[in-house]
Amino acid sequence: MNAQLLRIGDDIVAMHAVVTDEGVTLIDAGLPGDRRILRRALADAGRSVEDIRGIVLTHGDSDHIGVAEWLRTDYGVPTFVHEADAARARGAKTPPAPGGRWRLWPALRFLGGAIRRGALRTVHLGEVRTVRDGEVLALPGSPQIIGLPGHSPGSVAIRIPAVDAIFVGDAITTRHVLNGSTAMQLGPFTDDPARTPHSLERLRDLPERAIVVGHGPIFHGTAAEMLAALRV
Ligand SMILES: [Zn+2]
Repeated sequence: MNAQLLRIGDDIVAMHAVVTDEGVTLIDAGLPGDRRILRRALADAGRSVEDIRGIVLTHGDSDHIGVAEWLRTDYGVPTFVHEADAARARGAKTPPAPGGRWRLWPALRFLGGAIRRGALRTVHLGEVRTVRDGEVLALPGSPQIIGLPGHSPGSVAIRIPAVDAIFVGDAITTRHVLNGSTAMQLGPFTDDPARTPHSLERLRDLPERAIVVGHGPIFHGTAAEMLAALRV
């Protein structure tokens, strides 16, 4: 199967599209103002939003669901989320989680960039489809769900061998949004930081050679190499 990975957005917030002969799967949905960059990225790959068959969320936080409700209501695109994060994606309040050390300019750059892309106009999902650990979804690229609780209860890794990648959302970050650090580290605003390293061990033996995060550059290496680089 021909499959191509598109990165849409930037190192502040990125969503990704897996483009195959059967259509497009989105991994996360960016920020509410990302409709234009999504359309442009798909057009560059010879596709359109009509080709999107489904959105799979790494977790239910607002900076990952941006255009999902628009795609659901206007194009009938379903969003898949782990059952433990379904309420979060639909707008349930979440407990405050620590952001960690921050520095002024990186934090302002994050806030400015996110606000420009509509971060203050969050549209939660009216309807989601829930998934469970171990499920392989009938979507382009056959995404496999691997439970990764820690950042949130319903955080997951999404494994797509067709593009040689594992999407880990905010379990880890390669560019801390609040202080600009590019060390491999746990994502900020994590509900249960002690749990994530344990969850990540589940990925250790997987062969895929790209670890894709929600914030920061793609890590080009295996999960085992990522774990070796991780500072906890
Ligand atoms: Zn995030």
